[in-house]
Amino acid sequence: MPCEVKPRFVVLYGSQKGQAQSIAESIADEAKEHGLVADLCCLNQNEKYSLEKECAPVVFVVSTTGDGEPPDNALKFVKRIKKKTLSPDHYKHLLYALLGLGDTNYANFCNCGKTIERRLQELGAKQFYPTGYADDGVGLELVIDPWLEGLWNAIKSALSKMASDMTAQLYQNVEDSAQEKPDSTLPDVQLNLLSIADKQNCEPDSKHASPLAISDVRPASSPGSTGLASQSTSTVFTSAPKTQACSEGAPFVSLAASLRSSLPPLSESSLNIPALPLPYLDVTFQEADAAEQAVEILNKETLYQVPISKAVQLSKGDSVKTALLLELDISACPSMTYQPGDSFDVFCPNRAEDVDQLVHRLGLQDQKNHRVQITLREDTKKKGAQVPSHIPQNISLLSLLTWCLEIRSIPKKAFLRALVEHTSDSGQRRRLQELCSKQGAADYNLYVRDSSLSVSELLAAFPSCSPPLNLLIELLPRLQPRPYSAASSRLKHPEKLRFVFNMVEFPACSGRPAGRRGLCTGWLFDLVIPGLVFPEKAESSSSLPLPKIHVSLRPNCSFRPPSDPSVTFIMIGPGTGVAPFIGFLQQREEEKKENPEAEFGETWLFFGCRYRDRDYLFREELEDFVSSGTLNHLKVCFSKEHMKDEEEPTSAAQPRYVQHNLLLYCQQVTDILLRQNGYIYVCGDAKNMAKDVNETLMEMIKTELQVDQLEAMKALARLREEKRYLQDIWA
Ligand code: FAD
Ligand code: NAP
Repeated sequence: MPCEVKPRFVVLYGSQKGQAQSIAESIADEAKEHGLVADLCCLNQNEKYSLEKECAPVVFVVSTTGDGEPPDNALKFVKRIKKKTLSPDHYKHLLYALLGLGDTNYANFCNCGKTIERRLQELGAKQFYPTGYADDGVGLELVIDPWLEGLWNAIKSALSKMASDMTAQLYQNVEDSAQEKPDSTLPDVQLNLLSIADKQNCEPDSKHASPLAISDVRPASSPGSTGLASQSTSTVFTSAPKTQACSEGAPFVSLAASLRSSLPPLSESSLNIPALPLPYLDVTFQEADAAEQAVEILNKETLYQVPISKAVQLSKGDSVKTALLLELDISACPSMTYQPGDSFDVFCPNRAEDVDQLVHRLGLQDQKNHRVQITLREDTKKKGAQVPSHIPQNISLLSLLTWCLEIRSIPKKAFLRALVEHTSDSGQRRRLQELCSKQGAADYNLYVRDSSLSVSELLAAFPSCSPPLNLLIELLPRLQPRPYSAASSRLKHPEKLRFVFNMVEFPACSGRPAGRRGLCTGWLFDLVIPGLVFPEKAESSSSLPLPKIHVSLRPNCSFRPPSDPSVTFIMIGPGTGVAPFIGFLQQREEEKKENPEAEFGETWLFFGCRYRDRDYLFREELEDFVSSGTLNHLKVCFSKEHMKDEEEPTSAAQPRYVQHNLLLYCQQVTDILLRQNGYIYVCGDAKNMAKDVNETLMEMIKTELQVDQLEAMKALARLREEKRYLQDIWA
């Protein structure tokens, strides 16, 4: 009877007291829930596994004992891989992830894990997921919990990558073999893999089953899925239901539970809380007023301060999201020579109100303009402690909180743990302990992580908590610039750079009495309101001075229109994902004007939004491109208007998403890609849209060429290799 190949991976552990073993066992146990099969072995059972032949990803969980020694049951393994006679490509086929357990109170923290990792890399193995080194000195779970959380996606991606690498390799083998010996049989390895995919009569738990069966890592019932996935050859993973964020009032949350208070059993439970993060910085103030310029603080060579010369609201009426187009005047920055397809970073400050509230909470109103000096604590036990390099010495307190720390970041459990020590109210202390405890993990996810609660909001909810400044500097991440795609071409708008963004909005929830906006999008919005934004009116009539922002270019040399203008290309960009394609089309329009005799390939754009009259971004400009012949095929779908017309029951249902529209043009699209050497570009949301588009392209190739999943994967892998299938996507 046919059966499904379950993608397989390997878990190897070396454990002295059983902790690494129990983590490895729990990974193996959980594998089934993710649609995977795990082979679990202790490192000393070398008769049960063979890294030399292993073709699946390998996860190592290893502790360190004594003075940096491997656990007893990993000694032989470590000795084996340390042999000098092993060649540098001994493990070049191997993909690995490693979790090391150790304790910084002892010498040689995580030495066994570090030794294994170093040797794996020296022998050619590749890491598929960042290594976690968990420290018992501060609480192993601080590293283990997030590491385990991210592991599953990493394994699935590694399996997918291995599958596409193998298909690409196979494709190459077929071609090589066909060229060398036209009549010869296919190479052995290919025959084996094809037989697995074609016949599907393999053993599900077979030791060295190929990871080929993976085609999709999203739930089967996603609304974005085309529903075309072939159940006979693809393995569809299911994901656990996500906890609902901000769900006070939702049926499954008891009435009194909130960010600030819990109910039994949690409120009565004894708690396992992480160890206190070791403080390592001393902060002092110097009573000299400082007033730095942002440009000094950001300290980036290629930073430009540019005026916003125009702002237009692109969305209309009661659109779900507010979309703005901003234009920057870059005439004073001759080296900002961007190309369509490039992005650039916007450096935004924290909100003055947030900074002010924080200064009050820290009790530092009188020092806010004083210079801050940061040094390492002489008595710190934290290993490898360093003064953070992203904070300039002698910066004023206001500038530090405004430009250097992500005070809107989601508080980590270590941060909550550290706050406990600075909270006077016993009820609030208890709740902070719960939120960072093992028992309170669900509450942490619900009230902190899934609600995107910020550090400022957390402090507002726990008024008796007064952390010292060094704690914030030690535990908060650096304030990051936000990237945006250029939505213009310099050929059409010399000395201008345009971009478009949707305002990010976070709804009210427990701990956030009123909704708030994203940091950068909210800041940009406030900068241009009320002076510049006029729906449907492009030019500013305001006499206010133009606001300026700091930007830096992030060239993306691979996401460019085809260098040969005669090549046909397809662009897919729903929502603000259309941004770079406006630049592509402006460029094309100008090139056509400059060189009317030249041969130009056809251009296709698949755009999607919710409503024709509310969020059809760049509608006029796109229609003008069509009129001028710059854009040959404009295919737009409206996700909230796709249902059948009730008054005309015979009408066909409209496509909902860009990928549904792609299906309607399956023949033309596949022809462009498979026969005309054309290009396809995808921009926008990585989490759902780009995955669904990829899946749809796979299905279209299957249908068009009448081939199986494997052949379709090969075709897509080849398009990527040839850089004719290009993505600029963001999760
Ligand atoms: P923050 O305060 O940083 O909050 C963002 C957080 O909110 C995220 O962590 C996310 O978890 C959550 N969130 C919820 N919904 C959304 C949503 N719809 N978008 C973003 N975050 C959400 N954005 C554009 O609008 N236009 C562009 O052209 C564009 N180009 C980009 C190019 C690249 C290469 C990358 C990496 C990103 C691009 N982005 C673009 C995203 C942009 O950089 C910002 O992340 C986004 O504008 C939110 O910034 P913020 O500071 O307002 O939100
Ligand atoms: P949006 O307005 O939220 O959505 C645009 C359209 O896409 C809507 O009609 C939406 O429909 C639809 N959609 C939802 N799920 C989909 C799916 N699975 N497949 C296809 N379409 C789907 O989009 P946005 O906010 O502008 O942009 C999306 C993201 O891309 C943002 O996070 C933005 O920051 C990012 N972005 C990245 C880049 C880059 O990396 N270069 C550039 C621009 C934007 P419904 O809502 O009705 O379901």
